[in-house]
Amino acid sequence: MARGPLIVRTVKNLDRATGKFREAGETLALVPTMGALHAGHLALVKRARRRAGRVAVSIFVNPAQFAPTEDFANYPRTFDADVAALQAEGVDLVWAPPREVMYPDGFATSVAVKGPAVADLEDRFRPHFFGGVATVVAKLFGQVRPDFAVFGEKDYQQLKTVTRMAADLDLKVNVIGVPTVREKDGLALSSRNVYLSPAERAAAPVLYRTLKDCAARIAAGEAIAVVMNEGSIAIEEAGFAVDYFEARNAETLRRAEKREDGPLRLLVAARIGKTRLIDNIAG
Ligand code: AMP
Repeated sequence: MARGPLIVRTVKNLDRATGKFREAGETLALVPTMGALHAGHLALVKRARRRAGRVAVSIFVNPAQFAPTEDFANYPRTFDADVAALQAEGVDLVWAPPREVMYPDGFATSVAVKGPAVADLEDRFRPHFFGGVATVVAKLFGQVRPDFAVFGEKDYQQLKTVTRMAADLDLKVNVIGVPTVREKDGLALSSRNVYLSPAERAAAPVLYRTLKDCAARIAAGEAIAVVMNEGSIAIEEAGFAVDYFEARNAETLRRAEKREDGPLRLLVAARIGKTRLIDNIAG
């Protein structure tokens, strides 16, 4: 078994650790997470391992990206199991800052994001979200100063937002996207899947199934509007309330009305019981 990762909770200790990596001429990849790690997160870690000599994983449940009505207090926290899983992947460093290290008294700055962050997808339903994500990711990049940062395509609008921010602010971090890891029945792995009742869990694969079905129909030449409308109805019939089910340009996230508006990305967010799930695939 590999030696456990160094667990760091202060900026000073973080600087000491990353300084040693830099002195040794090693590249560093960061995988930002909110913990409750599953095989999706570990796929990001594996990618990070291949790209850089050293791998840091941050674990921080970021209050700034939750609305007051959302699940911040109840968000799953499984720190010891997370560290054990990261140890098995050979992670070098776990950056686990307490809330007061991230947001000390007097904290007064936030990053305002537009472009993909205001594409009228997640931002329509979670208006606080991308500002909170961008601010914490900018801080993580400033703290860790990684060469690479690895994010999941699972949160596609987030991946595009962070990529844009890193370029626009010259943060000198190469942002890498990793394909979504799924259960055998197609459900995208998510820390929030633990909230699903057995009946909800049984219904949940409809999201991926419908995304795939719609992508195939669009590729075969059917009209996007018709296909997406029928897909949305299929998801509702399986017991979900659909927030959005849309075809967008994969790069700009602008609405796609015809195949020529692509390359396409099909994206969905839908609620079942108390749980909100998101997913997306290439069109
Ligand atoms: P979270 O801890 O949910 O904020 O996610 C941390 C990172 O893991 C983000 O970059 C997510 O996109 C990524 N991620 C979450 N679920 C998956 C998955 N099923 N496959 C690949 N990446 C994922």
